[in-house]
Amino acid sequence: MELVSHADYARLHPTGRHPESRERIRVLHERLGGWIEPIPATRDDIERCHVPALVEVIRTTTEPTLLDLDTVCTETSYEAALLAAGGAIEAARVGGFAIVRPPGHHAMRDRAMGFCLFDNVAIAARRAQAELEVERVAIVDWDVHHGNGTEDIFRDDPSVLFVSLHQWPFYPGTGGPEEQGETLLNVPLPAGSTDEDYLRVFEEQVEPVVRRFEPQLVLVSAGFDAHEADPLAGMLVTEAGFRELARRSAALGPKVAAVLEGGYNLETLPRLVEAALEGFMS
Ligand code: ZN
Repeated sequence: MELVSHADYARLHPTGRHPESRERIRVLHERLGGWIEPIPATRDDIERCHVPALVEVIRTTTEPTLLDLDTVCTETSYEAALLAAGGAIEAARVGGFAIVRPPGHHAMRDRAMGFCLFDNVAIAARRAQAELEVERVAIVDWDVHHGNGTEDIFRDDPSVLFVSLHQWPFYPGTGGPEEQGETLLNVPLPAGSTDEDYLRVFEEQVEPVVRRFEPQLVLVSAGFDAHEADPLAGMLVTEAGFRELARRSAALGPKVAAVLEGGYNLETLPRLVEAALEGFMS
């Protein structure tokens, strides 16, 4: 599996002491070598998923601004966000793993949210449908938080199946047991869930739904904040758990690509990403 990344993720979009920092990419680049560089997504790519007014807010920001309680936007954030979406697009094209920031899965059609500016994985899905002769895309999101932005974007789109496993109740509050649809599966899990819990629901709920959908492309919103040492959440997934989640995700369709979402423990993040890479390739 190709790595897709860019030195600019560690340079652009400075967020100060925020947990979603440039340091996340720096520690990953120190550990992982040899990636292919994406080009930025175009405005057309972004507007397949987001309203023009949101694009304008981010494009025209000239000084550090909070777009919601915890979402920073700076003068270079638009450039970073286009490059992050471009990384996801390239990963979908080559079957790679996009090591990008800012993350994307909380970004709603019409607003930035939860550290996310544009929804990278959603933009990659729509671009794949536009250019890769892919009709049915399944997005499997195992970030610890509900992927409410991705759900919002594809709510009325039967060509994209969205599956989210997440701690619940928890930020952002959505994704509860009643929130389901024809091409939407939410798997809320209680705080303290382990590898065993994740792998059980993956086998019992996720695999049958994705297989029935017969995706031509599987995109993984790969967050690592369900890890037992992550400072932001309360789950107990281990390195071995992420390796196995990746292995099983790759088995869900003929082609798989992954996009980095959360993961905020700088000491453990590199080896968790490596473990997932091993799983995707096994
Ligand atoms: Zn998260």
